[in-house]
This record gives sequence, structure tokens and C-alpha cells, in this order.
Amino acid sequence: MKTVIIGGVAGGATAAARLRRLDEKAQIVIYEKSGYISYANCGLPYYIGNVITKKDNLTLQTPDSFCRRFNVDVKVRHEVTAIDAASRTVTVSNLDTGESFTDGYDKLIIATGAKPLLTDLVPDGCGKTFTLRNVEDTERIHRFINDFSPKSAVVVGGGYVGLEMAENLKNLGMEITVIEYAPHLLSPFDGDMAAFVHGYLRGKGIRLMLGCEMTGIECPGEYVNVILKDGSAVSADMVILSAGVSPDTSLVKAAQAGGIQLGVKDSIAVNEHMQTSNEDIYAVGDAVEVTHLVCGKKTLVSLAGPANKQARIAADNICGIESAYKGALGSSVLKLFGMTAASTGINERTAKACGIDCESIILSPLSHASYYPDAKVMTMKVIFEKDTMRLLGAQIVGSEGVDKRIDILATAMQCGMSGDRLGSLELSYAPPFSSAKDPVNIAGYTMENIARGLVKQFHYDDVIRLQKDENVFLLDTRTPDEYSRGHADGFINIPVDALRAHIDEIPHDKPVYVMCQSGLRSYIACRILASHGIDCYNFAGGYRFYNTVKTELGASASAAPCGKET
Ligand code: FAD
Repeated sequence: MKTVIIGGVAGGATAAARLRRLDEKAQIVIYEKSGYISYANCGLPYYIGNVITKKDNLTLQTPDSFCRRFNVDVKVRHEVTAIDAASRTVTVSNLDTGESFTDGYDKLIIATGAKPLLTDLVPDGCGKTFTLRNVEDTERIHRFINDFSPKSAVVVGGGYVGLEMAENLKNLGMEITVIEYAPHLLSPFDGDMAAFVHGYLRGKGIRLMLGCEMTGIECPGEYVNVILKDGSAVSADMVILSAGVSPDTSLVKAAQAGGIQLGVKDSIAVNEHMQTSNEDIYAVGDAVEVTHLVCGKKTLVSLAGPANKQARIAADNICGIESAYKGALGSSVLKLFGMTAASTGINERTAKACGIDCESIILSPLSHASYYPDAKVMTMKVIFEKDTMRLLGAQIVGSEGVDKRIDILATAMQCGMSGDRLGSLELSYAPPFSSAKDPVNIAGYTMENIARGLVKQFHYDDVIRLQKDENVFLLDTRTPDEYSRGHADGFINIPVDALRAHIDEIPHDKPVYVMCQSGLRSYIACRILASHGIDCYNFAGGYRFYNTVKTELGASASAAPCGKET
């Protein structure tokens, strides 16, 4: 059995290694058009930022070491230019010699990854605009920085790669502007949670231009100009184009590939065995569509974990082991200076677009016991289906402990656990690591309280309407000191500990909307009010959340026309 693999990084190299472990006699050939295989593309921004200082640390294997370990014939700088499904051959171009030849296969694995968007807007010969996908791109950026010592950079695209580049270039001393088409950074997040990222990055001196569409790039000489839709331009010494990727599937779109069925957004359609519509051709990684585990829709998930899992599954099936990829949650995590931002599943925006009747809770728990030094607050949003309490997604921003909580939530979601059962999870605890009631447990208790009707909530988007409504009573249950430092308009201050003594000052015939700093004291207040027969609602997230969202999203919304610094 001979398997040819196109692409030798996350998906391709993983598939080759698994094939070899399962079949010592198989013939395996990898064609990789770049000069490297099995490199750590997730580490590339950190090499540019001098966090990873040795290039060798990025290249996990060389063709020789991979061959020695796995007896795989690795051909770098070899580009597959055509697939002929009828004759089961690929056409390969040796990029060093220009020679072209055909090679036959019994099974073919396509692991060609994705390509950056918007590169057609870059004028020919513009040596100051860069994309970042592979080691060669990284070397180009590194060389430019060493040779020209740029003082400023524009990063187009506020996704994971763009923000990692913003951090690393900022750490090299550059002035950074991030231009993002959407009204907020990090599309897996809802705007309210992204507001925390906005505030943090602005605090680090990164200029954010949100809701701004790039329409062109000019390279007049000393500078590079990023042209925006409103006609204005942002100039810098260099530009990083990281506005997203699309599946690199030109090979399968050609006629001789035998009509391999395409999926969403030009991806390759595969079944759960990672098999294309041609039974001898498999495809994995950024090039394929996957089923979203929450909403069941076909989608793209361009992440290393899914690529690796799919590669293993393709190899299993080629070797006769029944193995299936059920779909992806899109779990991801990002370091931004000292902040961690992580998400899993779908956000509230997507849930609503999918027609799911959803609710969310927002908590501000500490990373570990408050009495142990250096506990750090995190902001956690968990989204669930109202009727069933099915977990739909979660987003967390903070510093310590964010990755751990998002992974617990991702695991719970994959196991089909409903939100109100999170409270029963027995998780490890000692004061330096967590609290006896872990933040995930607290999220579960909160959802359980909602499910049992012990508390009703209101949200950020409700506040403006309520502030204009004379038939409601707005209550702030923080201390007078906290209240004097800032409060939402129209909220009357009665601290929770004084509430029982002042209960007669609260109208019993109007709904009462209660806010505190984090949502905990207002919950206690709601239980007191409810025991007096008062209809009451707890503000999800507390004033801390309200104020961050109002400040950060308000700043973005008021920045018009596009091009004004926010
Ligand atoms: P790739 O790993 O991109 O490999 C595809 C390979 O195919 C490329 O090397 C390409 O040269 C080769 N190829 C394409 N066409 C041909 C052809 N015709 N002939 C021969 N070779 C060809 N994901 C995370 O989960 N976490 C992260 O922190 C993270 N950080 C990232 C940072 C950066 C800078 C980048 C670029 C990506 C990051 N990702 C991250 C995404 C992750 O790297 C990808 O999802 C994953 O590598 C996809 O695997 P793949 O095998 O499909 O494609």
C-alpha cells in the first residue's frame, strides 16, 4: 500500500507518523512545497518577538530526522500541481530544479492547509507587507525587522494570529495599530467579552481601529499605507496581513481531480472517516469542513488540535481501523501580554443566529482562594439553551486559571453535560490552585439557580431601556464608597447588608432590578427581596462588567469616521 500525502505540517506529518506506527511495511511519501516539514506554525509569532530565540526550536523535525524515525520519504520544496483521480497519480514540481514528474498512489491524503486572505490587495513588489503562515514568511519578517528596524506596524485583522503578532511586535518596541473590520476583536467572542480585551490592549498602548475595512495597500516608498473604505489611510513602516484564511483547495477544484465534492467556503467535504467523495482520497486540517458539535452546521475550524485529530483518524481508516471524527467545538486560547483569552463552543451572537433560545451567565471569580496571595480575577461567560440547560459555549478572559476552566467546560460540553450539572463536578482543590467551589462549580450553581427559578437575570442590553422606564425600581447594593466611585445612572444605593432594615423603602409593586460589583451581593439581595414577595432581577456580571462594556464598546462605537484612534 502506498500513501501519498500533500502537505507536511500539522495534518500531513501527523498522518504520516500514525500510518507508519500502524503499518511498518507501508510506502509513505510526503510532498511539501515549503522548505520545512512538521514545523511549529503556532510558535512563529514568538520567534519574531524573540521569545523563542532559536529557529531550530520551531522545526520539530527535518526531512532526514523524520525519515530516520518513521521511514517516510519526505520531499520538501516539492509542490503537487495536479491530482489525477482516474489514474491515481499526482503531478509534482521540484521547486529547486523546475523538474516535473508524476507519482502514483493507492491512497492520497490532502493536508494543504489554508491561505491568507486579502493578499490580492498587496501591490507587486511591496516588500513591507507580510503574511505569516510558514517558516519562510517568518524569516522574511525577521530579516526585515533586523535590516530596517521598523518603528511602527499596522496589523490588519484582530484574530488570534493578528493579536499575537501585535503583542510580539509591540514587545520589540514598535507602535502598533490593529485594524479590524468587525466592531470588536476576536470573532469567537461576543462584543461584551471582547471589551475586556480592548481595554487591556489599549492599556498596553496598542491602538485599535474597530469596524474599519481595509480596501487597499500602497507602498509609495519609505512607508506603507493601509487604505480604508472611508478613503483615509494609516501609514506604518510595515504591515502584517492577518485578516483570516481560506482553505487551500485549488488542487481539488481542478477538473482532473475527479470532481471531489467541495464543502462550505471552498473547503473539501469529507465524511467522518475524513474521506472525500473519492474513496481513495482523504483530506484533513484547515482545508476541510467540519461539523460544529453545538449547532450541527458545517463550518471551518482552522486550529491545530482538530488537524492533528483528523490526521490520526484518516491514517486509522487507511489502515483498516474504524475511527471517526465527530466534529469540532473550536476551543481556543490566546496569550496577550499578561492576559489569557479563551473560548469554546458558540457565542451568543451565533446561538441567536442559529435560532437557539439562549441565556448567559457572567461571573467574576478568582483564579484561586482569595486568602492565598496573588489570586487573579477572571471574567467568565457561559451560554446555554434556556429550556434544556444544554451548554452552548463559554468565553473567559483573565490571567491565571483561564485555560484550565475553559478546558473543563469544553470537556463537559463534549460529554453532553448540561449547565446545571457543572456544580456537581468534583475538581481538584488546594488554595494556590482553586477554591473549594471552583469557578466552574459556581457557574453550575448559578445555572441551577436559574433553572430552579431561584433567581431571574437582566443583562447589559436591558439597562438603557430600564433607565427610561418609570415602572421599575433600580437598586445598587454595593457600599456607599463603591457607589460613589461610579454607578449606572438611575440606580439607588442601598448596601446589601442594610437591605433588611430598609426593605420598606423598596416598592413592593414594581419589579426591582439589582446590581452590585460582581453579581454575588445582588444575588443575595434578590433572595431577600424575593422572600418579601418582590419581583426582582439580578444583573449578570455586576457593575464591573457593565462599566467595562460601556467604556470599551462605547469608545469603539463613537469612533466615526473610521480612522479615528479608539
Ligand atoms: P498546515 O499546518 O498549514 O500545513 C499545510 C502545508 O501544506 C503547508 O506547509 C503548505 O506549504 C503545504 N502545501 C500546500 N499546498 C501544497 C501543495 N500543492 N504541494 C505541497 N505542499 C503543499 N492553531 C492552534 O490551535 N493554536 C495556535 O496557537 C495556533 N497558532 C497559529 C499561529 C500561526 C502563525 C499560524 C499560521 C497558525 C496557527 N494555528 C494555531 C493554526 C494551525 O497552525 C493550523 O490550524 C494547522 O497548522 C492546520 O494544519 P494543516 O495540516 O491543515 O495545515
